Amino acid sequence: MNIHEYQAKELLKSFGIPIPRGVVVHSPDEARDAAKSLGGHLFVVKAQIHAGGRGAGHYSGEPACSGVRLVKTPDEARTAAYEMLDRTLITRQTGPQGRVVRKLYIEEGCPIERELYFSMLIDRAERCIVIVASEAGGMSIEDVAEKMPDKIRKVAIDPALGLADHQSRELATRLGLHGSQIHQFAEIVRSAYTAFTTLDAALIETNPLVVLKDGSLLILDAKMAFDDNGLFRHKAILELRDPNEEDPREQEAARFGLSYVGLDGTIGCMVNGAGLAMATMDIIHEEGESPANFLDVGGGASKEKVSAAFRILLGDSRIEGVLVNIFGGIMRCDVIADAVISACREVGLHVPLVVRLAGTRVEEGMALITNSGLNVIVATDLGDAARKIVAAVRARRTA
Ligand code: ADP
Ligand code: MG
Repeated sequence: MNIHEYQAKELLKSFGIPIPRGVVVHSPDEARDAAKSLGGHLFVVKAQIHAGGRGAGHYSGEPACSGVRLVKTPDEARTAAYEMLDRTLITRQTGPQGRVVRKLYIEEGCPIERELYFSMLIDRAERCIVIVASEAGGMSIEDVAEKMPDKIRKVAIDPALGLADHQSRELATRLGLHGSQIHQFAEIVRSAYTAFTTLDAALIETNPLVVLKDGSLLILDAKMAFDDNGLFRHKAILELRDPNEEDPREQEAARFGLSYVGLDGTIGCMVNGAGLAMATMDIIHEEGESPANFLDVGGGASKEKVSAAFRILLGDSRIEGVLVNIFGGIMRCDVIADAVISACREVGLHVPLVVRLAGTRVEEGMALITNSGLNVIVATDLGDAARKIVAAVRARRTA
């Protein structure tokens, strides 16, 4: 689960990490009042969406207006807010469709001397939390990795020993920090590590972490993501969820306790078991098409759950075909067949459907499908199912 920049900053602040003062607003008038309350002569108006690259992004149809605007007066903050709210911001991370900006963060403008990159994440290969840092802050870390890989520093944190202060101090030196900045940096790293482990985070990314003209360190941008499996023990984090920023298909699936991940392809997959779901996605790729989702309906799913899953698949406007691939173990094939049939009747089957069933009560399940009167293509094994759905989707495209 992801959260907004202003939420990440509030959380990090509660762990003692220095951030600029700021106020979240929902209207141009609130933006002006926020700037007035902050005082000073420089304000930053920042679009709050779950995507980075806002500073280099632009509003749909307005190439000159980015998602991070520096202004000098409260009235200019009001005008900027007027130009940014309820419009679609397009950045490298939003994709071409962009995202509608519903909230802004008004922050005090800070006199920047240097911009650094600092993040903490779980490295699956290293099987531990790693720090990634760079003296090339402000730009996307993907670009740094591509153009100047030698400017990226990685430090692994031993899970048994925890973060050692000397690791942070060495890193600070390599980032070109000196004097009291080394201590400040080590404090930030220590606090970030505490926040990361306490909150079951998956990522804390600060880009930029800046050195101000007076030599002090501050976090100007923050992104946090959390491990969904740990959320049950962090009710306060769950409260930060913003449904506007999430895939509606995934939200609906979560309501029914389905394990669902929306993807960009056009073949909807309903499978039981994560391994079989992965294999099904692979074999669709092998046949030259792409899955629209990962969906594991689980072991003992009820008819309601399976129907809900099927409705989510059919409700996706991008879908061009559906592949049901079930191995009945605890799950019975006749339950699946029954649920698929009733969901098709309810929503209307407007795309080709291939069903492959195997295992417990397969004969009963197949009989239900063939006697349903629905236009279902039956497959005997996984390879056969993938070939049939791809052929059907392609035939429909050229029809
Ligand atoms: P994004 O990464 O989405 O582009 P950032 O929050 O990193 O958004 O902002 C982009 C740039 O804007 C930063 O690299 C920094 O140079 C500048 N910036 C952001 N916040 C402030 C601030 N409070 N004061 C001064 N400059 C800022
Ligand atoms: Mg940034």
